[in-house]
Amino acid sequence: MIHIEQLHKDYRVGSRTVSALNNVNLHIPRGKIFGIIGRSGAGKSTLLRTFNLLERPTRGAVRINGADITTLGKAELDRMRQQIGMVFQNFSLLSAKTVGANVEFPLKLAGGHSKEERNRRVDELLELVGLSEHKDKYPAQLSGGQKQRVGIARAIANAPQLLLCDEATSALDPETTQSILALLAEINQRLGLTIVLITHEMQVIRSICDNVAVIEAGEIVETGPVADVFLHPRHAVTRRLVAEYTHDDFDLAGGGAASGRRLRLTYTGEAAYQPILTRVVEQTRAQITILQGAVSRIKDKPYGQLLVEIGGADEEAAAVLDLFRRLDVHCEVIN
Ligand code: ADP
Repeated sequence: MIHIEQLHKDYRVGSRTVSALNNVNLHIPRGKIFGIIGRSGAGKSTLLRTFNLLERPTRGAVRINGADITTLGKAELDRMRQQIGMVFQNFSLLSAKTVGANVEFPLKLAGGHSKEERNRRVDELLELVGLSEHKDKYPAQLSGGQKQRVGIARAIANAPQLLLCDEATSALDPETTQSILALLAEINQRLGLTIVLITHEMQVIRSICDNVAVIEAGEIVETGPVADVFLHPRHAVTRRLVAEYTHDDFDLAGGGAASGRRLRLTYTGEAAYQPILTRVVEQTRAQITILQGAVSRIKDKPYGQLLVEIGGADEEAAAVLDLFRRLDVHCEVIN
């Protein structure tokens, strides 16, 4: 749905030029939830804001449904923007207007609806986001999670094809974050709209995204399906993000007591439910020490990950590796 081609964005700061985006190329498929993750200052907001030209790139193309939006005139751009909703970290609600009036606002701006039609649509949207009984309240009377539900209802009021989420859950506690993520996943499923979100939190990507791009210093360093990128990270930045999230600490793990080869084992799908270690120990008589382990999920895909140490001679270790691989376990030798 979106093709970003050789995108650059430079900011002038006094006499200096800051390069916020450097040759970004991205393909975002229709109907998916696509996450962009990176540290503060990596360029996430700048990139997301080029998708509706809140930021105009210095060079490059932003193709949405085939058309490069950087070449559109004002009227065409306004029309295109109605196909794109946006949700903000700080909600950006109109504090002097009720919940109902906030959601009605973009419908009024778009025009072409009678008062009754707008009212019906507002009721439908508030029901979708679970806020029907709060229609006449003001934003100050709502919790953070409820405010973001209003933000989401407003963003999808004109039935956009694309929803952009700018750190939509960063101001929320973990439980509320999960409920907002569940709402976004439901909207993606029910309405079939494409969602692009930016975040610095791995948990957000793991919970709902289908694909992810990792951005660092204005460059996309890695992109692909979430399970591929996070279970088998190739770039140092991605590895660091994964290590921070999983609290990997090789020095602490095992406390230096064991002395064999360290392996990271990753298994997904059916293998996650199998007694893999038991089988390997039975067949090879290997001595395996578990240093760290977790069974978890990426979106709805279960996976297991173990950091283990294998004792014994080289040939025995080679036999263990070979057996793991035959059992569909991905093995990464750490040392
Ligand atoms: P992120 O969203 O990942 O925190 P940003 O896209 O906000 O990153 O910023 C990327 C880089 O561009 C940073 O170095 C930031 O300081 C710089 N930057 C962003 N907006 C501006 C601006 N309006 N003027 C100058 N520099 C900016």
